Amino acid sequence: MSKNYDPRLIKSYRSYKTKDVCRLYKSKKLHEQTVRGWVKDDGLKAFWHGKTLYIYGAVLKQFLTERNNQRKSPLAFNQFRCWKCKAMDAPLHNTVEKLIRERNKSLRAFGVCASCGHEIKRLYKADAEQEILRIFTVKHNELVGLSDSVCSAGGTHIENTSNQAVSEPPEIVPSDDPPKTTSTSDKTHIKPVKNIASIGTTHIPPTQLSLFEPL
Ligand SMILES: [Zn+2]
Repeated sequence: MSKNYDPRLIKSYRSYKTKDVCRLYKSKKLHEQTVRGWVKDDGLKAFWHGKTLYIYGAVLKQFLTERNNQRKSPLAFNQFRCWKCKAMDAPLHNTVEKLIRERNKSLRAFGVCASCGHEIKRLYKADAEQEILRIFTVKHNELVGLSDSVCSAGGTHIENTSNQAVSEPPEIVPSDDPPKTTSTSDKTHIKPVKNIASIGTTHIPPTQLSLFEPL
């Protein structure tokens, strides 16, 4: 997913269906699920007309421009990016409100923006749990009980990173949580589409990312 989608291909004055967007970036193999992920998780504003999801060209253009710029400044481990106020900071009180595992095994951490109070979230690699627990106060760790061999505090053994992916049967992944998920109340965005597998990869090292940057 670490691709640049050239914003210049977008016409500001028209609206795009997700399908149209994918067609524009066909050569990059942009998937509709990815576009929906932008809407659901990354603050891209879209609207429904009947059963079709539309995005304003101007909005999409700006979104892609910002997205490209953001990829030039990768987040530190403790930083979240707030799409509402654009702050890049540790979550409020250094607290992760909720930590869940996505279907593709990567971790998603939820917090509150210290600047504007909006919900913020970011993805971590599948094996980042220990580091997250070390750095943040985690209120609801939904990974607890999934990997029972891991004692989160002691740190006597570090062998969990290697066997975690192997020893964990896929059924345990908490994909059936009810839609009430977040306790923070303002829900401006569209209901979960339940398919997040396509957006789990912002983990390319910065050095590698820069190869994609246009000059
Ligand atoms: Zn904010």
